[in-house]
Amino acid sequence: MDDKVSRRDVLLRTAALGAFTAFGAAACSKPPPALACTNTRGLSPADVTVRRSLAYVDNSAELGKTCSNCQQFVPTVATNACGGCKVVKGPINPNGNCKAYLAKPA
Ligand code: SF4
Repeated sequence: MDDKVSRRDVLLRTAALGAFTAFGAAACSKPPPALACTNTRGLSPADVTVRRSLAYVDNSAELGKTCSNCQQFVPTVATNACGGCKVVKGPINPNGNCKAYLAKPA
């Protein structure tokens, strides 16, 4: 058996390792998918009605008025996860908004 490694083999393996590393870095730097907090399964019909009547949306259309800035928001310790709300039942997106928005005191 020949234990000698040719220069060509070393170059080919180094190139393959470099390509694999570059691909891995690109895959890891991909941003996480947008957080969706729209699943209302498990809520009572009354809770769904409140959610709809207050016009809860996952992404606030009002600059700076997001659930994460609202006094009613109940955050989670997990990152990129839905929180809760004292008024609107169900999963709440930190970037969401509804008609019951109440700014946190400065
Ligand atoms: Fe978000 Fe409305 Fe709850 Fe405030 S009251 S945290 S704006 S859903």
